[in-house]
Amino acid sequence: MLDKTVKDWNSDAANLEIEGRAFINGRYEDALAGETRATLNPANGQKLTDVANCGIEDADHAVAVARKAFESGVWASMAPADRKMVLVRWAELILDHADEIALLECLDVGKPISDTSGGDVPSAARTIRWSGEAIDKVYDQVAPVPANCLALVQRLPLGVIAAIVPWNFPLSTTAWKLAPSLATGNSVILKPASNTPLSALRIAGLASEAGLPDGVLQVLPGPGGSLGRHLALHNDIDGLTFTGSTEVGKRLMQYSGESNLKRTFLELGGKSPNIVFADANLEKAATFAAVAVFFNGGQTCTAGTRLIVEESIREKFVEMVVAKSQKWMPGDPMDPATTMGPMIDAGQLQTVAEYVDIGREEGASLMAGGNQVMLDSGGSYHEPTIFDGVTNNMRIAQEEIFGPVMSVIGFKDAEEAVAIANDSIYGLAGAVWSNNINTAHRVAAAVRVGTMGINNYFGGDMTVPFGGFKQSGNGRDKSMHAFDDYTELKTTWIEFD
Ligand code: NAP
Repeated sequence: MLDKTVKDWNSDAANLEIEGRAFINGRYEDALAGETRATLNPANGQKLTDVANCGIEDADHAVAVARKAFESGVWASMAPADRKMVLVRWAELILDHADEIALLECLDVGKPISDTSGGDVPSAARTIRWSGEAIDKVYDQVAPVPANCLALVQRLPLGVIAAIVPWNFPLSTTAWKLAPSLATGNSVILKPASNTPLSALRIAGLASEAGLPDGVLQVLPGPGGSLGRHLALHNDIDGLTFTGSTEVGKRLMQYSGESNLKRTFLELGGKSPNIVFADANLEKAATFAAVAVFFNGGQTCTAGTRLIVEESIREKFVEMVVAKSQKWMPGDPMDPATTMGPMIDAGQLQTVAEYVDIGREEGASLMAGGNQVMLDSGGSYHEPTIFDGVTNNMRIAQEEIFGPVMSVIGFKDAEEAVAIANDSIYGLAGAVWSNNINTAHRVAAAVRVGTMGINNYFGGDMTVPFGGFKQSGNGRDKSMHAFDDYTELKTTWIEFD
């Protein structure tokens, strides 16, 4: 797979059959009203295919199907060891179709093919396999009660779950939601982002092939403002799991309160601090400072967009990071040598351009980038961009830009570094770089985020939970902690005569 050339991938793309229909009750179907919406290739702005544009009636149909499947017990009451077998088979089928799914994700999202084939696809398969393999090792509890009683504390599936996911990591976030919600026995309706429905639709068919009973998983492409809102307000949905912006996350909490108080778990935005002390391995820290922002074109919730650097090395370190940023010049996502692709669409490019203007107006110094590039491509490409001389009250330091824009902020001592890091509405992730274990650990402990790296950025695997503090959310994806979001605790208290 990894030795394919851009020519090979283009030839595969020319022969690719793309499924754009919704997936309901184990079958691909058109939207009930017959409506479709074009999905575009961000690399060149051209149409890939027409996708079902599902509406409220499709949502009601999918909820009824999911409810029926749940109540039947066909999946919820299946032995965990048997659910495991289905999920493991599903993960294997995803790997059997790895090139096809990597290509779909590259075409639909504009992610470099080396990322989708080396990262998103194997990672989605690992997530599903991990949750499957874990589920028959989870024990419930017998409580320490008087001898004439027996009290059972059991985890039960919530019932019908709606999962709503964003466009920046469509396959990964889909797997992070589906793996634990299905492993715990729920029925699920997944709404992918309107821009990027293709990988979720494809792997839904593979789930059926792996033996997932009909009606347990539905994938409905359609607009967030109508279809997504309707699912979030639905009185027959028991749980809502969401990855996306803080703005929409707030609305979902309101919808839950306005309807049936469905359990609502949110994974939201970020403005993550990446703190570099003078005593760090500066070469490695500079490499990862660039990775932290420019990977996925900065369209990453955990992007380390605030580079907080000790003043004594700031000038030198910024020079090093500017040099590293040159390795992230955007290119054709189908070329395995490309590190950064386009923004998802022209709207996102416009947002990035506006923030570059705001940074200039706020008085920050533009050290690299700042421009749209590859103007003839039809796609929305932007240079890796670095602002120095940023203060933490500037908008470019406070607001999630979701593009390849880094803000460099200086600090004098550890106390000031922590204060800057914590001066944010967000608390998703961060990192600290220092060869002094005391400094590194003290700072890592004081920064209020869900995931903190010491001498690494983006570290972590399926064994650890992922989620945010503050306005970065309230749920946890990955690890066995994710099972908590999809289960209720039920007590059965038995008394003997
Ligand atoms: P978004 O605008 O919040 O959209 C996310 C999803 O919500 C999409 O499927 C969208 O549908 C849907 N939606 C929009 N309005 C809705 C409504 N009123 N009711 C129900 N659903 C609605 O986010 P995005 O722009 O796709 O993604 C970028 C954001 O996601 C960033 O803030 C990023 O930080 C965050 N993110 C967080 C994590 C994490 O794990 N913490 C991971 C990845 C991304 P449409 O596509 O039809 O609009």
